Amino acid sequence: MSMKKKDIRALTKDQLRSFFEDSGDKAFRGNQVYEWLWSKGAHSFDDMTNISLATRQMLEENFVINHIRVDTMQRSKDGTIKNAVRLHDGLIVESVLIPTPSRTTACVSSQVGCSLDCKFCATARLKRMRNLNPDEIYDQVVAIDKESRLYHNRPLSNIVFMGMGEPLMNYNNVLKAIDKITSPEGLGMSPKRITVSTSGVPKMIKKMADDEVRFKLAVSLHSAIEDVRTSIMPFNENFPLSDLRESLEYWYSKTKSRITYEYVVWDKINDRKEDINALLEFCSYVPCKVNLIEYNPIDDGEFQQASNKAIDQYINVLESNGIVVNVRRSRGKDIDAACGQLANKS
Ligand code: SAH
Repeated sequence: MSMKKKDIRALTKDQLRSFFEDSGDKAFRGNQVYEWLWSKGAHSFDDMTNISLATRQMLEENFVINHIRVDTMQRSKDGTIKNAVRLHDGLIVESVLIPTPSRTTACVSSQVGCSLDCKFCATARLKRMRNLNPDEIYDQVVAIDKESRLYHNRPLSNIVFMGMGEPLMNYNNVLKAIDKITSPEGLGMSPKRITVSTSGVPKMIKKMADDEVRFKLAVSLHSAIEDVRTSIMPFNENFPLSDLRESLEYWYSKTKSRITYEYVVWDKINDRKEDINALLEFCSYVPCKVNLIEYNPIDDGEFQQASNKAIDQYINVLESNGIVVNVRRSRGKDIDAACGQLANKS
């Protein structure tokens, strides 16, 4: 039986260079292969036409190139596209392309399933199977970029880590993927156009600040009252709001980058005056804006979107206190591509 071949895209450029040096070739060969793997998106060693046949065979014997495959693509009436993406081991994640007049945004997954237990999210019902590798995250973006050019005649402009999984629970791989996405050898995208969304893992938010990352941060807050938040996001018990607050203050002090709070208003859960006031107070801690997200029902009606009146109250109170509020309408609902609906249904 042959030894299990290694995924060549798990190697950094330096590791590839040393691999070639160690096998008696020039380190520069590593750069050439790296370019094939990342800028040119080669799917097989045979594609690497400026590499000698003998070297290609040697690579073939030692490595595999794992690529994701878009299994099914669904298109919504509103132009949203959802990909079900098959990974090399057969598991599936979903990613979404969201076009608006001014931008096209890729919403990508960071884990297969999710280990968190938000009561209102369909992904939470899939248990976490595994973390995605950097190349699996990167490939989702490349696939969406291709679709954006094909169906909307423009390249991808933004990326949000709001698909399946909790990006900060797969931090190292997310960071490596973002490095590839932003590097000139990858997609050359500006980190300012990338947003990592977290349910709020204080220790990791501080780590990101220490790493001086240049992408944006969004936090799925949904309630600024401890027991309300714990009732809908039970892991909040381990990461209390006071710790979250402290980590966000630290983030801002280091990065000077404004935070976005994502917030759904639900009927009889967080639609009271005191809920609004608690959010208002939370917003005073660090410069921020609030995205009010429309609720996408996932079940039997345990959660229901609050009335327009309640939502208007949120908007009025926040805006009259100088806080920027965006109301985010759902996109791609008809194909289960909206926030919280990703659950590998098909
Ligand atoms: N785990 C990360 C990334 C997932 S982002 C995070 O929690 O931020 C998905 C976003 O959609 C989060 O803001 C989440 O709170 C929100 N969401 C989850 N279920 C939803 C639903 N049914 N309707 C609307 N938004 C939902």
